[in-house]
Amino acid sequence: MIALTACGSNNKKEATEKKDDRLQVVTTNSILENMVEEVGKDKVSIHSIVPRGKDPHEHEPLPEDISKATNADVIFFNGLNLETGGDGWFIKLMETSKKKEGKDYFVVSEGVEPMYLTGEGQESQQDPHAWLSLANGMIYVENIAKVLGEKDPENKDFYDQNAKEYVAKLDKLHQESIDKFNDVPEKKKLLVTSEGAFKYFSKAYGLEAAYIWEINTHDQGTPEQMKRIISRIKETDISSLFVEQSVDPRSMESVSRETKLPIYETIFTDSLAKKGETGDTYLSMMEWNLDKIHEGLMK
Ligand SMILES: [Zn+2]
Repeated sequence: MIALTACGSNNKKEATEKKDDRLQVVTTNSILENMVEEVGKDKVSIHSIVPRGKDPHEHEPLPEDISKATNADVIFFNGLNLETGGDGWFIKLMETSKKKEGKDYFVVSEGVEPMYLTGEGQESQQDPHAWLSLANGMIYVENIAKVLGEKDPENKDFYDQNAKEYVAKLDKLHQESIDKFNDVPEKKKLLVTSEGAFKYFSKAYGLEAAYIWEINTHDQGTPEQMKRIISRIKETDISSLFVEQSVDPRSMESVSRETKLPIYETIFTDSLAKKGETGDTYLSMMEWNLDKIHEGLMK
């Protein structure tokens, strides 16, 4: 009996140690979580902070987030004013967890050419939604691979190889998409969403982005914002509106009633779909967005 017990507890200890051997990674949101998964595969253990379907601009970290961040080997955040804008929840979390930038936590958007908000008085603020252009997504992946390789040099070649294969897939979709949007008539090249999240996307794929509110720190359009978007829509020949999966749809529904244009589809911006659903990876979320936006604009 004693021997069995000893043996049992040994196995258990080995299992625990084996689990702890993997690089412990924390990401702020599900898009970065999936990119780390693609690069790190079974060599990393990932905790993502903001739940799927929720808005990462503002967040109240849970005790579990604090303990995971404290024990993490590496933490990735988007930057460009996403988790670091608004209530600045990420910076507070890093202070609580006693983590340092460039040593413990890393910005994945390093090297991306930032775009800026356009609202009055906000022109100096960076727009966070860089990942909605696949060209920037590829930069994110390369940054992630570089940091993983530095933190875990034994598996550097593995991370580099996975990143290379993954970037090739992203690049293929990116190039195809640039061509695909060429056939949209000029007067229909207006992408209307609730939040102004599609600046990088629109620049990459030759569209113009219009929106009710510029950034998700409030979730209902003001009367002036509603008036502005409706008159912009009336200057064009578009037949479709879009709404994002992580926002309150009521403002877009009232734009739809006012303009008598249908909301063609729900698209992804700041979060992936729940696991097992369409759009649960960065690649499939981008495929969905590119397909549905193209279809809607061609109506
Ligand atoms: Zn956003």
